[in-house]
Amino acid sequence: MGKFIFVTGGVLSGLGKGITSASIGLLMKSRGLKTTNIKIDPYLNYDAGTMNPYQHGEVFVLDDGGEVDLDLGNYERFLDTSLSFDHNITTGKVYSAVIEKERRGDYLGATVQVIPHITNEIKERIRRIAKEYDVVIVEVGGTVGDIESMPFLEAARQMQLEEGRENVAFVHVTYVPKLRVVGEQKTKPTQHSVKELRSLGILPDAIVARSEDPLEGVARKKISLFTNVPEEAVISAYDVEDTYEVPLLLEKEGLGRYLARRLGLGEREPDLDAWREIVEKYKSLKETVEIAVVGKYVKLADSYLSIKEALKHSSVANGVKVKIRWVEAEDIEKYGIKLIEGVDGIIVPGGFGARGTEGKMMAIKYARENDIPFLGICFGFQLTVVEFARNVLGMKGAHSTEIDPQTPHPVVDLLPEQRGINHLGGTMRLGAYPVKIKPNTLARRVYSKELVYERHRHRWEVNPKFIEKFEDAGLIFSGISGDDKRRMEILELPENRYFIATQFHPEFKSRPMNPAPVFRELVKAAK
Ligand code: GLN
Repeated sequence: MGKFIFVTGGVLSGLGKGITSASIGLLMKSRGLKTTNIKIDPYLNYDAGTMNPYQHGEVFVLDDGGEVDLDLGNYERFLDTSLSFDHNITTGKVYSAVIEKERRGDYLGATVQVIPHITNEIKERIRRIAKEYDVVIVEVGGTVGDIESMPFLEAARQMQLEEGRENVAFVHVTYVPKLRVVGEQKTKPTQHSVKELRSLGILPDAIVARSEDPLEGVARKKISLFTNVPEEAVISAYDVEDTYEVPLLLEKEGLGRYLARRLGLGEREPDLDAWREIVEKYKSLKETVEIAVVGKYVKLADSYLSIKEALKHSSVANGVKVKIRWVEAEDIEKYGIKLIEGVDGIIVPGGFGARGTEGKMMAIKYARENDIPFLGICFGFQLTVVEFARNVLGMKGAHSTEIDPQTPHPVVDLLPEQRGINHLGGTMRLGAYPVKIKPNTLARRVYSKELVYERHRHRWEVNPKFIEKFEDAGLIFSGISGDDKRRMEILELPENRYFIATQFHPEFKSRPMNPAPVFRELVKAAK
């Protein structure tokens, strides 16, 4: 069995526990250890699929169709790995498994309780994954002290007892504010949250102290003294320009070395050269292009995290920094197309529901008519079809039946298998499916491959009835589903320089060293 590193959080949420966990994963992996990450989300939802992006940011999608917390996207990008649905443990999953077992009679005779039944289920799920790895990093979502996280912290505590102290380490991420008036870093919140953690029987091995500026000597000493953590394990994680710098900072601060030693993994030199190269390249970029992202959740940039990341990867690949202009689609309806004038490229991302659809289509029309490099994703793909139907084919009132069930021209509709579904959770077309790309198309040049696997998350599809009509008018469906051939997956307009849209979400598979091809080429076209 491997080693476990639990990452907990204190003081307040949004400190970057996910990036810290992903970074620790990279520090272990770069030491030649087989490493993976698990995210625990203490909410009662079974998965992230039914949540609005304003709750926890984007819903990330895995190859196996798991709809998970966006931190799994961070893990995949930092460790350059592909995870499964089991790597996201929620209260909903744990309780429904326990209740199912109870109904089956597995616990016959016993009173089913949080301890030991829920905690056993949690430990079992963590251990099942750990089998194949040297090190597993387990991020416990939420803040220590939340009612919801109690069973998970209790399970973590038990694991240290059962696996042995030498096999389980705890990293606690806290916040060290600086009071402007006195100009002093304050350690009291950290002291209190560690006290809280210790009252649950967990003694942290390392403290990752988040702060605006590097941790001062006095503050470090104080934290060490009050939390019983050696000074070398009080890690200063001050604000950096870009999240990709965090692993390098934590390594410089000695966290990787300390944890490896603490877990008896020996002195291993990390190989972070490739990562450092990406970070340095990205930071040195001078030239910029501006790309508008026209969406409906733009007030929270995390709603489109993977798109932001894919553009970052594409920046490095093209030697040009992408500046994103976040545009609320509804604002285009109110204030007009001038909101996106002057950009070098336009993205219309995925989405659900009516709000902002007309604004998104105004942006698509603008891109199409002015030959501005364009990428439509999922709902953006569907609306590209609607825009084309309305404005090129003159099909007045054309729409997706998701938005207008009574439309005279249902150019985007449900296929029979999606009709009559009344359970909304986990029933979309989810995960990686093969897409077959036609020769002599833009898509084929972009991918230079005939068959690709991309991740999906949608219910609606281009209505097969209208395909011929579209193609006669010059729209090319250059990618179709590789399994049943009924589904349109990629469209393009050959007379434009770069006008492409995909039913799938290419952003979910974009990696720092391997950008998603349609993003990479969008940025190239914008440049
Ligand atoms: N709402 C659309 C559908 O369900 C698009 C989904 C998306 O953009 N992820 O098909």
